[in-house]
Amino acid sequence: MFAPQPTQVKCPQCQQPFTLSVHTIVDVGQQPELKEQLLRGQLNLMSCPSCQTTGVLATPLLYHDPGTELLLALVPMQLGLKMEDQERTIGSLTNALMAQIPPEQRKGYLLQPKTVFTLETLAQEILRGDGITPEMIEAQNRTLRLIEELVAMLDDDEGLSTMVKEHQEEINYEFFLLLTQYAAITKQEGDHEKAGRLILLRDKLSTITGISGADAGTPQPETITREEFITRLLDIPNRAGRAQEVAVNRPQLDYEFFQTLTHQIESAQTAGDTERATRLTNLRTELLEITDELDKAAQEELRKASALLLEILQAPDREQAIRERIEQVDEAFLVALAANVSAAENQKQEEVVQALQEIYTVVMNVMEENLPPELRLVNQLIRTETTEERREVLQAHQDIVTPEFKELLDALAQDSEEQQQTEVTRRLRTILEELNQ
Ligand SMILES: [Zn+2]
Repeated sequence: MFAPQPTQVKCPQCQQPFTLSVHTIVDVGQQPELKEQLLRGQLNLMSCPSCQTTGVLATPLLYHDPGTELLLALVPMQLGLKMEDQERTIGSLTNALMAQIPPEQRKGYLLQPKTVFTLETLAQEILRGDGITPEMIEAQNRTLRLIEELVAMLDDDEGLSTMVKEHQEEINYEFFLLLTQYAAITKQEGDHEKAGRLILLRDKLSTITGISGADAGTPQPETITREEFITRLLDIPNRAGRAQEVAVNRPQLDYEFFQTLTHQIESAQTAGDTERATRLTNLRTELLEITDELDKAAQEELRKASALLLEILQAPDREQAIRERIEQVDEAFLVALAANVSAAENQKQEEVVQALQEIYTVVMNVMEENLPPELRLVNQLIRTETTEERREVLQAHQDIVTPEFKELLDALAQDSEEQQQTEVTRRLRTILEELNQ
């Protein structure tokens, strides 16, 4: 235990000296509650008895989390310490920490704390150790800001519709998830009026966008909570199995997921359940590795896809270029293409939009030419809108419509249902029903 030391400090505002209990070593392995205090800006919080100015004391601080093997040294910039004084301060704090760790538990990382110069960077590094990146926090803040803007528009239906159109891409499934959680937290905190407005907003948005607010209360693809997902991951006996589960459910491992996991680790530590704390901590380390690998692989795929798209765009004969490269066209390419179309649309670059849409049409045609005849027929059928149209298409391909073809349709319908492609599933089922009549 590292008890806070009573220290003489001076008010930065009125220079009045007073005594404050100051933490200079935070070891969350021993005192997990200090982590939350630090992240909330309540650690070493001073309040001047004379002028009531409050603020966090700028003081050197060593932060240690044995669970994630994280050792950070904060040397506040405003102290203006010289290089050698910084090193001396960090050295003496590290020695004090080492002295309390049994020799057999001392590890290499304890010799080299990562130095940061602001409290904000310290908090970022701590969260990063929990799997929460600054990008995730920024994305979450952006969504919360959007929610506030939308709530302000709640009584203006026309204004709300316009805003929804402008932010179409952001108002997705994850958006509804966060909105639902935000409403629940607001209610818990006792602000029933605001919670009511948030729920009203959710219902209105759900009507406008067609995304169901009711579905959004629980994570996809199966309706399980983050806690249940953590338990399920813990139950999988090996890393390969977990890696597979994570690959399928990558979007579920978001900010709240890692936050929930971290809270579970902390409560296990507080409850003295070391075994569970260790299991959860190992799980977190492994999940961070797996998601990192997945994200890197996805980025690499996207980078290759963008390069391919550029090659095609710059080719003198685009159709020929596509035919020559059709083997390289994969899902990542289509994702890159769609992203480029919407970016060009937003920037009102109509020529680019048109060129990209042409590429899309050619790619689709060439891909279809390369398909086996049964799949080509399925694609044709999916594009039909009426029973008459379908009848015509089927009439022209009677030789293909065998019992095996129906089995294929059924298998495809099941696949698309698993991938939550509701519209495709509906169309496939309609085709099957009509075939069976
Ligand atoms: Zn003061």
